[in-house]
Amino acid sequence: MNLSSKVALITGASSGIGEATAIEMARQGARVAVNHFNQLSAANAVVAAIAQAGGQAIAVEADVSQSAQVNQMVQQVVQRFGQLDVLVNNAGIEQGKPFLDKTEQEWDRVIAVDLKGPFLCSQAAAREMVKRGKGGTIVNISSIHEDLAFPGHIAYCTAKGGLRMFCRDLALELAPYHINVVNVGPGAIATPINAKTLGDPKEKAALESEIPLGRIGAPEEVARLVAYLASDDASYITGTTVFIDGGLSRQTGSL
Ligand code: NAD
Repeated sequence: MNLSSKVALITGASSGIGEATAIEMARQGARVAVNHFNQLSAANAVVAAIAQAGGQAIAVEADVSQSAQVNQMVQQVVQRFGQLDVLVNNAGIEQGKPFLDKTEQEWDRVIAVDLKGPFLCSQAAAREMVKRGKGGTIVNISSIHEDLAFPGHIAYCTAKGGLRMFCRDLALELAPYHINVVNVGPGAIATPINAKTLGDPKEKAALESEIPLGRIGAPEEVARLVAYLASDDASYITGTTVFIDGGLSRQTGSL
């Protein structure tokens, strides 16, 4: 796998799966833009880690739910690196609350970041890719919850379910431009989004007992899959979801 000819923009890359993906893609030779939202020092630490390992990276700030900020971010990447080959729509939030108590504002925010964000970022990135005429790849970090119900997480599941169809539809629209669109569907991964479960030994053990491989995944394991999907080795994969969940979705029998 070699990403040395590629420029990649990874959203929400100041922590978790996004951070691991930025570091892995840079390790494979890509020049990387580390998007963050109000997390400058964490994003700068990711950029510094990449530079220390001999890679090239910049930090770019944007709230992925705001079109003006997204367009400015993509322009910043193109101005700095001259091209954009890979977009990883990774930024996401999750707010657990029973459906009957969920507020309109909470619903709107999750849908804005987890579903509208990928729309805005993909459109801005794809316009650049089409203009350059050399194809590209869009990877959406979805979830097993693009298919699997999760009571108490209605907006998150709706957003990830929407991302499932977004990927399938966009893959067909962008295929004539040789832009591949793929979803990655992680199961339970050890990142800040799962801080509550990871911090409670009983909750963690209960979750791990449901996972056929018997453990929560590492962000680096997801990062290696994303880097592969962004590489030319994965040139015939588009319009589908690749699950990475230690067998969790098979155990529950829902996918
Ligand atoms: P995380 O909380 O470390 O990462 C989410 C990142 O998104 C953070 O860096 C956050 O600052 C950023 N972000 C939030 N709102 C943003 C906005 N408006 N604009 C730009 N960035 C914003 O958690 P993670 O687990 O690394 O999550 C990454 C992705 O993986 C998410 O889309 C999440 O839904 C998905 N996912 C995670 C798991 C898991 O178990 N960790 C499982 C399935 C899917």
